[in-house]
Amino acid sequence: MWSKYKTDKYLDGKIKELNDIYNKIPELKCQENCHECCGATRWLPIEYFNIKRFLDNLGLKERNMKTMFEMCPYIEDNKCIIYPVRPIICRLFGVVNYNKTLKSKALGKEVRFQASMICPDVKIDNYLTTEESKEIMKKIINLIPDEILGEIYEQ
Ligand code: SF4
Ligand code: SF4
Repeated sequence: MWSKYKTDKYLDGKIKELNDIYNKIPELKCQENCHECCGATRWLPIEYFNIKRFLDNLGLKERNMKTMFEMCPYIEDNKCIIYPVRPIICRLFGVVNYNKTLKSKALGKEVRFQASMICPDVKIDNYLTTEESKEIMKKIINLIPDEILGEIYEQ
């Protein structure tokens, strides 16, 4: 089993890599107190550790959703209390232009689907494509291999 020192060192490096990935995501300045796109959020394993460290530093406890459909527990007074460490799904909303043309069997013609990830209130100039957003997700998922995750969770 890894020592706490080794785990902390490992996570330091991985959280730095995570932030490097986050920093490449286009920036969107949300409207004040808006949480329209918040919902039943999920975080990836490295994001869990990032959020936990942030909360530990503030002397706050982790919060969990009791069901898959519950609103994210980190909204307080209309604000995200973990905004600096919010997970990737929250960062992608509003900056991905999901824009595909698919054949609809029911309508028997091509139908354009657009904007499932576009913020209705704030527009940006440099939207990511769906493929780019998937690549980002993949990079974050691959940051910690499963066998190492076992070591870390045992701490
Ligand atoms: S992305 Fe848009 S909807 Fe979501 S919190 Fe920001 S301003 Fe509100
Ligand atoms: S982590 Fe923050 S931004 Fe993401 S859903 Fe929760 S409150 Fe909203």
